[in-house]
Amino acid sequence: MSRHLAAVFVLLIAPGTALLAQPGSGNRSTSIRAGEACPAGMTEVRPQNCQAPTLPPPSIVDYRPRSTLVAPAHPVSKAKFPAIDFHGHPYSQLNSDASLTELGTQLDALNVRVIVAANNVSGPDLVRQMTLIRASATMKDRVRILAGVNFSGVGPGWAEKAVAQLEADVAAGAVGIGEIGKGLGLSTRKADGSRLQIDDPALTPIWDAAARLKLPVFIHTADPQEFWQPIDNTNERWLELALFPGRRYPADQFPSFETLMTERDNVLRRNPKTTFVVAHLGWHANDLGRLSRMMDAMPNVHAEVGAVLYDIGRQPRAAHDFFVRYQDRILFGKDSFQPEEYPYYWRVFETRDDYFDYYRDYHASWKLYGIDLPDAVLKKVYFGNALRITSRLLQGGWPR
Ligand SMILES: [Zn+2]
Repeated sequence: MSRHLAAVFVLLIAPGTALLAQPGSGNRSTSIRAGEACPAGMTEVRPQNCQAPTLPPPSIVDYRPRSTLVAPAHPVSKAKFPAIDFHGHPYSQLNSDASLTELGTQLDALNVRVIVAANNVSGPDLVRQMTLIRASATMKDRVRILAGVNFSGVGPGWAEKAVAQLEADVAAGAVGIGEIGKGLGLSTRKADGSRLQIDDPALTPIWDAAARLKLPVFIHTADPQEFWQPIDNTNERWLELALFPGRRYPADQFPSFETLMTERDNVLRRNPKTTFVVAHLGWHANDLGRLSRMMDAMPNVHAEVGAVLYDIGRQPRAAHDFFVRYQDRILFGKDSFQPEEYPYYWRVFETRDDYFDYYRDYHASWKLYGIDLPDAVLKKVYFGNALRITSRLLQGGWPR
């Protein structure tokens, strides 16, 4: 019986068969040569044979297939160990004692003990926020602030002013520098109107001051590499680029991804006494081999995981090995403050779950897998590494 069916099947796909569709189905089909892609509107149904659907295809915005996979599922609402969110962006939460207290309730539900505000604030704003935090009965030890550096107008006299402001911000309570935004490199101009390169020597006094004051430098450079690519059917960030036109970086208006990476790496390499934390795994989460080489070459470099969970969770074995190997240099951070999104991170880091949803369709059209980190690694990623490189964070009371 099965042999008979197999024979029929072979007949159906015999080479040279022009029309593969079931008789009467009426769908269009065509053959292609080896290595060719099917024409638009068709998909390869057998080797080198393309066929068009008999129904109008849904748009990628609307197509949301329900997975029929039945597999063990272990959602994790609270982190297994208390976490430091090194890439926090609380804004309205830092406006009043009541909103700060409410932030504490939200963090408790996630087991985030400390949030580091990486909002690039400085001067009076930083003083105001630190005053509010210190006055809070419940939150005085749970929010810390990174100092912002204003990179606009770099020219003669800039560095002296910037270093003096940084020292004042540290005196006011700042625990590090950041988040240095992607504007540095992409768009920030010098006083003379030229693009401020990330590796401009005029910035060296800032990196020196960070080393002298023992401040980690949290830096976000560039964006996912696909943002520089043509927005076509092969771009895995098509939907995001279509939703957010500001994320496109046409070559005639912006430096290339590789130019920005080179400038960033020059800074990391030329300032070995400065501790850097590259945000978003340096946008190399899709190429952990490249990130490994970077971290091997530059022991002063640490990496933060915010907003690249889609790349970690799509390569669970490689990501597990990467986290184990660099367990002393990876920091938890979330970026955009959406309490309901943190549990996806816990699930990816702590479980062996297969094939589960990510929280943003427009980042990734694929599913995630747990990378099952050992407890010792989780503790370092969740809080140990942030504490070690940020001496001004409260060091006591963590589950060592
Ligand atoms: Zn950020």
